[in-house]
Amino acid sequence: MKIDLHTHTRQRSYCSALDEEVLIRCAIQEGLDGLAITDHGRLVPKQILEELNEKYHPFRIFIGVEVTLFARDYQDYIILGIHKPVMASDWTYDILLKYVRDSGGYIYWAHPFRYRDVLPPEHKINPPDAVEIYSTNIRPDLTSRIKQVAERMGCRTIGASDAHFKEDVGYSYIDLENEVSSDAELVAELKKGAFKVIPPGIDSKQKEKDQRDAKYQADLGDFSNFVKGIKDT
Ligand SMILES: [Zn+2]
Ligand SMILES: [Zn+2]
Repeated sequence: MKIDLHTHTRQRSYCSALDEEVLIRCAIQEGLDGLAITDHGRLVPKQILEELNEKYHPFRIFIGVEVTLFARDYQDYIILGIHKPVMASDWTYDILLKYVRDSGGYIYWAHPFRYRDVLPPEHKINPPDAVEIYSTNIRPDLTSRIKQVAERMGCRTIGASDAHFKEDVGYSYIDLENEVSSDAELVAELKKGAFKVIPPGIDSKQKEKDQRDAKYQADLGDFSNFVKGIKDT
């Protein structure tokens, strides 16, 4: 069962251009069997999730959320299987981890080394369930380093899309050995490690992504020149 565990919709993530139904249709077109919607700090309301699951059955939409911890290191985590809101912006990693454990959820470290080139020391003592190794927000040259870090922490790796745009959907995903039909079953299979990670193909998706990154870097350059211009005057 092919599932993308990390996606964003414009309904609840200001940074995403993807309408939730467009996201689902793209995933179906890419041959996926399910996805988790993991908007920034916001859950899909229960009723909407139920309606989407009914409308797109047998395709399956799972609950999820992406949480950013600012407390010490700026880090992002994907939380799966929890329907209660996670109010975590001022939480520490240890508080979040305990909350996820107590609530029967699953937690993985999203795009490691994206903002800071450090392995949070708390991870060494209490590692998350997994580490994201592939997504559109992970540079491909980090793959071997992330693999080493995951091994050192004794946790699994996850491939996902972190989709914010149509062309991201299906970038990387996991393939579960067994079919699951509920969030609790998904968490149980993930905890068992009964899945394979499907890495991104060297195809048009990667090229589109590279082009977008290049444009983004160019825009950033424009912005820093703009700021520099202000300082100089
Ligand atoms: Zn985002
Ligand atoms: Zn994300």
